[in-house]
Amino acid sequence: MIGQERIQETVCRLFKEAVTSIPEDVTLALKKAYLREEDELALLNLKAILDNIEMARKEEVPVCQDTGLPIVFVRLGDVKVENLYEAVAEGVRMATMEVPLRPNVVDPLSRENTGTNTGHLIPQIDVELADTDSLEITVLPKGFGSENNNALMMGLPGDGIDGVKDFVVRTVLAAGGKPCPPVIVGVGIGGSSDLAMKLAKKALLGRVGERNPDETLAALEEDILRSINDSGIGPMGMGGRTTALDVKIKTAHTHTAGLPVGVCIQCWAARRSTTILKDE
Ligand code: SF4
Repeated sequence: MIGQERIQETVCRLFKEAVTSIPEDVTLALKKAYLREEDELALLNLKAILDNIEMARKEEVPVCQDTGLPIVFVRLGDVKVENLYEAVAEGVRMATMEVPLRPNVVDPLSRENTGTNTGHLIPQIDVELADTDSLEITVLPKGFGSENNNALMMGLPGDGIDGVKDFVVRTVLAAGGKPCPPVIVGVGIGGSSDLAMKLAKKALLGRVGERNPDETLAALEEDILRSINDSGIGPMGMGGRTTALDVKIKTAHTHTAGLPVGVCIQCWAARRSTTILKDE
């Protein structure tokens, strides 16, 4: 049995790690972008981002004032766990006090803040069943400067691959500087409307710079990335070659009458942290 206390302490640690330490693959992509840029403002913005990341890591403080909405992905294998939802929620409350995280969670209509980063159905937890003997937990504190620019297209089969590309590129260009570029673009193709959006978000868990194993999707990722970066929006929307660091696509089969496409935009503060727990 993996006990509640162990899970909540792990979740608290993962949130601390995520908000204070940007993953290595993202940092590397930002450094490569810095070497590619020539525009003075783009260089200035990327340097500020990289200095910020370094300082946050050293001082163990959040890399951005918006420490996001707590989103947690769980892969549950053949293992017993104690009070999983409550354990994750308590881990979020502990991290909110200890890190501390900015209390971001409010009632959607009254806007009353719970003060704990938890509330009705928050933390948002996605549970996937896995053929393993472990519990894998990934936290994704998601900033809303980027989240507010997400979009869904309920396309028609005739829209095809060109329609998918056009929608994704238009969505990112319409967002401009609002999602704090350079962004990472998660794309979900297929399923139903909710699955397309979920796949788009899950696509953000992949490593930046790692291409899709499917050749067609890999080519589409590169094609979309090129078109976004040709826009010249640049770091923080102030011009330059790097508007996106990567495009990541996930797919599911869908209904013969439709082509759902979800787009989930992640800012440069692409925070995520994962661990695997086993029964001791
Ligand atoms: S979009 Fe990202 S970088 Fe921008 S303010 Fe929100 S969390 Fe911070």
